[in-house]
Amino acid sequence: MKKRGRTILVTGAAGFIGSHLCEHFLGRGDRVIGIDNFITGRIENIDHLFKDSGFSFVRADVTNFLHVPGRLDAVLHFASPASPVDYARYPIPTLKVGALGTHKALGLAKAKGALFMLASTSEVYGDPQVNPQPETYWGNVNPIGPRGVYDEAKRFAEAMAMAYQRYHRMQVRIVRIFNTFGPRMRKRDGRAVPNFITQALRGTPITVFGKGRQTRSLCYISDLVDGISRLVDSNADSPVNIGNPHEVTMLELAQTIRRLAGSRSKIVHRPLPVDDPQVRRPDISVARKLLSWKPKVSLEDGLKSTIAYFKA
Ligand code: UDP
Repeated sequence: MKKRGRTILVTGAAGFIGSHLCEHFLGRGDRVIGIDNFITGRIENIDHLFKDSGFSFVRADVTNFLHVPGRLDAVLHFASPASPVDYARYPIPTLKVGALGTHKALGLAKAKGALFMLASTSEVYGDPQVNPQPETYWGNVNPIGPRGVYDEAKRFAEAMAMAYQRYHRMQVRIVRIFNTFGPRMRKRDGRAVPNFITQALRGTPITVFGKGRQTRSLCYISDLVDGISRLVDSNADSPVNIGNPHEVTMLELAQTIRRLAGSRSKIVHRPLPVDDPQVRRPDISVARKLLSWKPKVSLEDGLKSTIAYFKA
């Protein structure tokens, strides 16, 4: 896809990742049309974008038919509740936006002759029996557990995106996003990073689930956005992992956040959620090779910026 003056539609534009993507593409001189229904997105995330004449916004649920007048060069489908707490709270909207919303967004891209990008997830690998996870791993997902609403919707979405690519010969990109953090996450989205930072800053107990031996690999938002932008501009026609391979246990994460926040919070243990993946780490060989991408921001630097955001 040519690199300047494109028109890009972003679903989930008022979300954490969506809002950073809108900002990125506007900064590159593209026009951006944002869509969000504000289930988990927030107007504060995009307020500052309205002063850019290249930005427009439609409040809508992408589960329903989307009419967008004029030309579109790309449709980036990022709408979905994305934290385990959110998709437990909104199980049916999560299934619908992953399944019906992906269908509608693909249909829109097809009608416009636009490139389609699906925001997929490391959750397609479930509780993985292979670590790190390469794109060729098929995963270990419980379809009927509490995470199934998200995991299976995203797996269905990948299947549908690939079918549109094969059958309708559309340009399709699939990004499998691993744990990402940074400014504009909601304090109460329930994920480890915002929970631990909020708790550390308030001096209340830091809640580590289980023994805290489970691992995650955390990518800073600016690195993720760079990877996604390169993927949009690439020819990669099958899924690509984007994430930071630096793997830490949740207990280490809690201790690091407590230290960086200068906090004296106690660390307390709470029951491990059902089907909580025990390990997670991206194999990023494909992104390195096809996109010449690798993350640049260290966990500590990213956490410092995020702590500063939560303080403010
Ligand atoms: N977690 C935790 N304490 C919290 C929130 C989460 O120990 O207050 C753990 C959770 O059990 C999981 C990990 O942190 O093992 C990452 O959870 P998160 O919700 O951030 O995202 P996930 O990777 O599970 O989608």
